[in-house]
Amino acid sequence: MEVRRTVPIKLDVDSADADLLRETIQQFLDAANHVVDVAQDGEWVETRKSTLHEETYSAIRDRTDLHSNHVQSARDRAVDALKSVVAKWKQGEYASLPTFTSRFCEYNQRNATVYDDHATLSTVGGRVTVEYVFPDENRDTPHSRYLLNDDYETTGATLHEREGEFYLHIRTTADVDAPDRPENGTVLGVDLGVENIAVTSTGVFWSADELNHWHREYEQRRGSLTQCGTRWAHENVQSVGRTETGRFEQMLHRVANEIVTEAVKTGCSYIAFERLTNIRKRLPHAKWHHLWAFRRLTGYVEYKAEARGITVQFVNPQYTSQRCSTCGFTHKDNRPSQESFYCQDCRYENHADYNAAKNIGLKLLRNQTGAEGGVPVGVRLNSGMLNTNGVVPVPDSVRVGVHAECHGL
Ligand SMILES: [Zn+2]
Repeated sequence: MEVRRTVPIKLDVDSADADLLRETIQQFLDAANHVVDVAQDGEWVETRKSTLHEETYSAIRDRTDLHSNHVQSARDRAVDALKSVVAKWKQGEYASLPTFTSRFCEYNQRNATVYDDHATLSTVGGRVTVEYVFPDENRDTPHSRYLLNDDYETTGATLHEREGEFYLHIRTTADVDAPDRPENGTVLGVDLGVENIAVTSTGVFWSADELNHWHREYEQRRGSLTQCGTRWAHENVQSVGRTETGRFEQMLHRVANEIVTEAVKTGCSYIAFERLTNIRKRLPHAKWHHLWAFRRLTGYVEYKAEARGITVQFVNPQYTSQRCSTCGFTHKDNRPSQESFYCQDCRYENHADYNAAKNIGLKLLRNQTGAEGGVPVGVRLNSGMLNTNGVVPVPDSVRVGVHAECHGL
């Protein structure tokens, strides 16, 4: 399965190179417009690439300083635009012939080389090197997701000019394993919390201790720095904040990787989280750093899972913490404390977050039951599978990577 992503990057260009890029864009647009002119012949419009190539290629090469691949790309862009106009005519719609005015130029692997922090681009005056302007290296951006990710390969780029600034939209692609999901789509339910940042329906726990500890440390340092009240102290608060953010992100990336690995190991093709809107209501003890961590973590899992062919879905969290995952009995008395779950009806007893993780998986199952094809059939547990009728054993063939119920506690 092929996944394609475009990464937009602002460029840092010196003024001499900017002139070359501007002139390259101008000649590229002139070339595309020239192809449109040639294609038009009274009532008739030529849309065959080979014919237009013969009729325009040498003339454009003679008249411009464009790289041969730019000449071909300009022609292809013109042909695509002409074809869509002709398609509209066939529908009986009015459409005028294309004119290229918005400032861009197409690149491929032969006239551009894309590196992690810069690129070289062919221009009408030779190759130039352009540096990337990263928004913030510590943040999770499309650059880190796709451009700096070895799984993604660069296939080309479009250079854009807007209000005197240059941007490169880099196209990347990854070939991900297409999962055998239709028949045995199983769900990994994941509960998010303040004590445990994440708990899966297979019984894996990720404690939030480290996160909470770092945060307390940060608050203390910030408190003492703020009391100084100087500019120096203010800058220090900011740098402490950046260090903390980097540390958190690194940890959340690790947890996200482990959640996705758990889903792969246990043969799940879905990961279910609770929807994060109103999470403050469900978790009154959550602080801003928890809410931030939940958003980051689910975001990381979403794109890391996608690359493995696993779908992430969000369910309504209502009653997932009070409902018994074994018998379905729902009551607030089932939660005698923050950590424990004890069913007043069937006497099922377990860690509250683990019970919630199973319910979150079950919610996704119930939401989708009745839909056509490819729907999840069960929630993965550490020793079996849960469906809407109760626990069923998992056939040995798919029973891999079984985790102890209280692993990590
Ligand atoms: Zn029960």
